[in-house]
Amino acid sequence: MSFLIAIVGRPNVGKSRLFNRLSKAGDAIVHDSEGVTRDRQYADGEWYDKRYTVIDTGGFVPEAQAGMLAQMRIQAQVAMDEADVIIFMVDSRAGVVPADREITAMLRQSTKPVFCAVNKIDSPHQPEQYMGEFYRLGMELFPISAEHGHGISGLMDTISALI
Ligand code: GDP
Ligand code: MG
Repeated sequence: MSFLIAIVGRPNVGKSRLFNRLSKAGDAIVHDSEGVTRDRQYADGEWYDKRYTVIDTGGFVPEAQAGMLAQMRIQAQVAMDEADVIIFMVDSRAGVVPADREITAMLRQSTKPVFCAVNKIDSPHQPEQYMGEFYRLGMELFPISAEHGHGISGLMDTISALI
């Protein structure tokens, strides 16, 4: 069984973008036979000599079928049940929102390691200055830009050390 990394977070924080980066194919979108585009949920990837499977939990529940908090509870439950490591993603530009606190409370009950990726820190210079209020979540923080790739190596070096 491959080492499972789950990405959890509310809509639009950048989960699928990170999933793309961490998956070997680099393409989270699959086109099925009807020509419908949907999010892929699992992909294999490797970081140097370490192999893993990454899960984009955001793809599990169609947004129309559940409110955001319900979706996030399901994501967190899937991650806590299935994953070996959880990446909890937040948006540096939005700051800490109530849904982030709710998911933090759930993840705190997990026995799995949880790393908080503070995304959309696109400037590689002094990334820490954008992370202030996220320290209150009480998790280990990693400033990243899923879009531009900054900070991914720090996050993945830490995670791959557990594989
Ligand atoms: P998801 O809903 O959590 O899967 O988020 P997506 O990966 O679909 O990204 C949501 C939006 O945020 C998209 O418009 C992305 O282009 C944008 N985004 C994702 N990562 C970054 C980032 O590192 N920097 C910036 N500026 N935008 C990002
Ligand atoms: Mg997504």
